[in-house]
Amino acid sequence: MVPAGDIAVPFVGNGARPLVKPKAHKGDALPGGRDYFSGNQILKLLPRTAQDFLSPFLEQVELGRDESLFEPGDNVTHAHFPLGPTIVTLILPMRDGRAVEAATIGREGAVGGIVSLGLTPAFTRASVQIPGKAARISISRLESAKRAAPKLHDILTRYADCLTAQVLQSVGCTALHSLEARCARWLLMTHDRLQQPDLPLTQEALAEMFGVARTYVTRIASGLQERGAISYRRGVIRIVRRSVLEEATCECYGLVRQHFERVLPGLYPTAEL
Ligand SMILES: [Zn+2]
Repeated sequence: MVPAGDIAVPFVGNGARPLVKPKAHKGDALPGGRDYFSGNQILKLLPRTAQDFLSPFLEQVELGRDESLFEPGDNVTHAHFPLGPTIVTLILPMRDGRAVEAATIGREGAVGGIVSLGLTPAFTRASVQIPGKAARISISRLESAKRAAPKLHDILTRYADCLTAQVLQSVGCTALHSLEARCARWLLMTHDRLQQPDLPLTQEALAEMFGVARTYVTRIASGLQERGAISYRRGVIRIVRRSVLEEATCECYGLVRQHFERVLPGLYPTAEL
């Protein structure tokens, strides 16, 4: 395994990737049924009184691949709760056009304005990695709901702690661990969030997220494929043997998962295979 620091990174992924502007979503109000709350672990954990309070203000939107929910400096107007397999990544775009992933958020979480009081400027870009549905609510409504439903406030504050832990661990991982270990960690995290073995991801997208040239990702993916961990066909990475990925990754995957489990039991969705 090659330590991350030993790789002379000649090219980093890709502020040049075409940026898909946010759509003016016409959200569909969520019908009163409780099914919508099962698609997102935070919404699912809420007591029924808090769900009842949120229901009228949540709307369902379709998020397209590479769609930007917000850019650095934007006022964040809505919080999004990814539903089912939808995944959003927080990305740090640099001035020279390079960019790197800072966090991955799926059914276990929420994107934007989770702990802020009112509108605040975004620090990162939020980009849709795997398209699908999300429930969204305006930040002002969310603030009202947090005041009215202390359990919602508590869960979101605890989730913010888990998200911070994920980002902090990612700093250590990027600095100290090999690209293969990081890649395995990301595949495990994505598998957990999707709850299905086929991850609709290109190697280009992975290279962009890790901030490395695609050739590095191709080499890592080939190694994992030879060991029976994954298979790859154009645009889809299939998890074949999760146990091999668990051996290939570093402690960072398990530490973040454990933190989620201690701070918010029942929130983190672990995939089986
Ligand atoms: Zn690591």
